[in-house]
Amino acid sequence: MYVLVALVNIATRFWVMHMRKCLIAGNWKLNGDHTLCEQFAGTAFPTKPSLDIVICPPTVLLQSMHQLVKKYSNCLHLGAQDVSVEAQGAYTGEISAKMLHEAGAQYCIIGHSERRANFAETNEKVAIKMTHLLKANVSPIICVGESREAREQQQTLAVIEAQLSPIKAVLQQQAVSCAQIVIGYEPLWAVGSDRPASPEQAQQVHQHIRQLMTDVPDVDALRIIYGGSVTAHNSAALLAMPDIDGALVGGAALSIDSFLGLLPAV
Ligand code: PEP
Repeated sequence: MYVLVALVNIATRFWVMHMRKCLIAGNWKLNGDHTLCEQFAGTAFPTKPSLDIVICPPTVLLQSMHQLVKKYSNCLHLGAQDVSVEAQGAYTGEISAKMLHEAGAQYCIIGHSERRANFAETNEKVAIKMTHLLKANVSPIICVGESREAREQQQTLAVIEAQLSPIKAVLQQQAVSCAQIVIGYEPLWAVGSDRPASPEQAQQVHQHIRQLMTDVPDVDALRIIYGGSVTAHNSAALLAMPDIDGALVGGAALSIDSFLGLLPAV
C-alpha cells in the first residue's frame, strides 16, 4: 500500500512538473529598434503547447511590436522591462501597469539586478510593482539573485529569501496563485558574463525557491526561470533540470539566430 502511495506521489509530481509550460523570455534592455521588431515578429517561431516565448523590447517599441505580431500572426508574447511603482498621477516619465497592458504587454520584468543596482529598486518596491501588475492583468517576472561576494560567503539562499520575503507576504495576503507569476533566478555574477551558473548550481537555488514558496497557493504551477549568459551551448542542459522552467535571456536575445538556437527542442 505504502509503495503504491509513494508511486502515485512520484507520478503526480512528474505530471505537475511537466504541466508547467517552458517560458523563454528575451530581454532586449536598452537595445533594439523597429527593424529588430520586424525581424522577430516576422519569424516563424516553433508553436508548441509546452512553450511560451516572450520578447521584452524597450517600452517605446511595445505597441508597434504588438501590431507587428498581430499582423504576422506570430506566437510571440510581449513583455515590458519595468513598470512604475505608482499607479497614476504626477510622476513625469513613468509608465503604469495599466498602460503596459494597453500597449500589449502580457509580462513585465521587475527587480532586474540592473534596476536594483542603478535605480535603487528595493525588495519592497518590487512587491508594490508586482501588485500593480497583477491588478492590470500583466504577469510579473520577478528577478532575484545573489552577488559573487554573497555566493562566496555562502549567503546565496539568505539573499534570495530576503528578496522574496515581501513578495511572498503579498501573495499570501492576497491569495494570489503562483500560476500568475514567474520568478527569474539571475545570479549577478552570471549575467552578461559568459560564465553561466552550472545546471546543478541553478537547480539547487530553484529548488530552494520552490520550497520557500510552498505556502503560497499553487506552488507546483510556479515557473522559475534561469537567467545569466544562457546561449545555444548551455540552454538544453539548464532546461533539463527539474526545477528550471525556462530562461531569461539578454545578449542572446538580440539576434534571431542566437535566440532560435537556444529554444528547447521539445
Ligand atoms: C539579463 O540581463 O537578464 C541576462 C540574463 O543577460 P545575459 O543573458 O546577457 O546574461
